[in-house]
Amino acid sequence: MDIFYYTKYNPGDIIDRLYLVYISVKKRVMYFEDREKLNMKGFFNQILRIDLSKRTFQYEAISDEILTKTLGGKGLGTYLLMRENPVGVNPLSPENVFIIAVGPVTGTKMWSQSRFGTYTKSPATEGYGESYCGGALAPKIKGCGVDAILLEGGCASLSWLAIDENGVTFHDAAVLRGKETYETEAAILAHSREGAGAMVIGPAGENRVAIACIKSYKWRSLGRGGMGAVLGVKNVKGITFAGTKDCEVADEEKLKNLIKAIAQKGKESPVTELYQKLGTPMQVKVTNTQKCFPTRYWQSGRFSGWASICADYMQANFEVKAHGCPNCFLRCTKKSVIKNGRHAGLEVEGPEYETIYAIGGLNAIEGLEEVAWLNDVCDRLGIDTMSAGNISSFAIRSMTRTSSRK
Ligand code: SF4
Repeated sequence: MDIFYYTKYNPGDIIDRLYLVYISVKKRVMYFEDREKLNMKGFFNQILRIDLSKRTFQYEAISDEILTKTLGGKGLGTYLLMRENPVGVNPLSPENVFIIAVGPVTGTKMWSQSRFGTYTKSPATEGYGESYCGGALAPKIKGCGVDAILLEGGCASLSWLAIDENGVTFHDAAVLRGKETYETEAAILAHSREGAGAMVIGPAGENRVAIACIKSYKWRSLGRGGMGAVLGVKNVKGITFAGTKDCEVADEEKLKNLIKAIAQKGKESPVTELYQKLGTPMQVKVTNTQKCFPTRYWQSGRFSGWASICADYMQANFEVKAHGCPNCFLRCTKKSVIKNGRHAGLEVEGPEYETIYAIGGLNAIEGLEEVAWLNDVCDRLGIDTMSAGNISSFAIRSMTRTSSRK
């Protein structure tokens, strides 16, 4: 059962409420006074601040000066993280701010524009945490009319959020507790506006596993740094984005010419065709030949079983379809279905090179089918495949060393 809330303040004392109203009016006035200085093309000059504890949200202006200094999603996300996060904050506490940011080319026709970043204090390293994701979500985030979104505090119970150009709605997610990522994503999208995209966590994020990731479009990941655990601690099971606002660019004609010029370079490059056909798994052969393919917990750069986890093996033993993020001619992603064996019929996106080396090379697993299956297990639970592969190979290495000393 969904419960819809727009802005709703906690019942508190009257002074608190009046103060909130005063701050909000003051910010609005400043916003209109500064409007003249808020003119940076490629941006909306606006961030969305969501207070999960109070179930409120507000828009705040972000000046040209800051956007000029930070220039792009990574700079803006990092700037906001440094500005907003309390010093010494526990990454696994609701006080750890979670930021989603997009850049000036997001939502334009520029190649590879469909990426966004998240920024927080990492539960995996207890330091600066950033993670990036492809797929088709980035333009829908930007279409909400914001350059960045800040999540503060934590929901009182498991929830999911829907964000569009009109603001934020909070939904109860109790029925999704413990659900895997694919199921969670399908469930919240079924209750969302047409054309919406989502990011979700699985059981790993809910249980605050430090290597939990966030998934989007089933197989796309905000993999690094334990982003899923941060959403988990905030009791946010997922977020949908359905923005359709267009952002003005400074010079349409110049942008068009730049896009054409890049396309021409891409056409001329032999690497483009290779990425389109083989995708990132082609790196297995390249790195193994150069003796730098991560093998047996980084003990070697050559894996004897490399031929069973490389791109050629994939082409021969999987049904492979090239596919890519919107506006990307590289189309490096491969939707692949296993043809034979105990995992026949299993569909994954990839496996990508990073997953192949972390799960396959580091753990000396032969057979891309087994790598794809473990990839799928991690995706469903919402666990970063690179971290999982590293940790399991570390465990194997430690056990081997211990038993050889006995
Ligand atoms: S298709 Fe590949 S290269 Fe293109 S944006 Fe997506 S991940 Fe990047």
